Amino acid sequence: MRLLSLTIDGFKSFANKTTIKFEEGMTGIVGPNGSGKSNIIEAIRWVMGEQSARHLRGDKMVDVIFNGSAGRVPLNRALVSITFDNSDHYLASDFNELTITRKLFRNGDSEYLLNGNKVRLKDIVDLFIDSGLGRESFSIISQGRIEAIFNGKPEDRRAIIETVAGVAKYRKNKQTAERRLEQTMDNLNRVNDIISELA
Ligand code: ATP
Repeated sequence: MRLLSLTIDGFKSFANKTTIKFEEGMTGIVGPNGSGKSNIIEAIRWVMGEQSARHLRGDKMVDVIFNGSAGRVPLNRALVSITFDNSDHYLASDFNELTITRKLFRNGDSEYLLNGNKVRLKDIVDLFIDSGLGRESFSIISQGRIEAIFNGKPEDRRAIIETVAGVAKYRKNKQTAERRLEQTMDNLNRVNDIISELA
């Protein structure tokens, strides 16, 4: 699996549609302070399902939409697309190439697309779960994050280790199973109540 390209359109400082192609090997992004280097990394994080505006240095999610500059009016929607070569099927999908697109409109409406088809956020999260990528992964580390990890609570650090070790997926499945078990117990108790009332 390899990152092939990233298209940013109306996201943060990228008012114009911009496509970055990633060649094989290492890619470095250079530019003066404030030129948008971090915004590129945040675009990757965002399209892969980031839900926290704070992690994207904003207050509300709509803050990621280009909000105007000298001589340029604000835009009404942000769009980011990311394309992976998946010919080794590292990501659990039959497609050899995967393009994920996320759109957000100023009225709050949002959309996720997988190879052009509308999908749920969960589908995107599930695609990356256990891949070492995805919104909660540590493949993308922004400025200040390393310090936050070192200064974080032991439980938070444990969560990081579990994510890296691939345990997070099982923890999530366990929580879902426990919730279902609880609901089933409630239903069973209700049925038993009815039975004893009828007896
Ligand atoms: P540094 O080298 O200082 O870390 P950088 O190259 O990483 O800088 P970024 O932090 O990616 O730069 O970009 C900051 C720029 O993005 C600022 O000029 C800021 O005004 C602009 N910006 C952020 N959000 C938006 C937005 N929603 N609309 C327009 N511009 C934005």
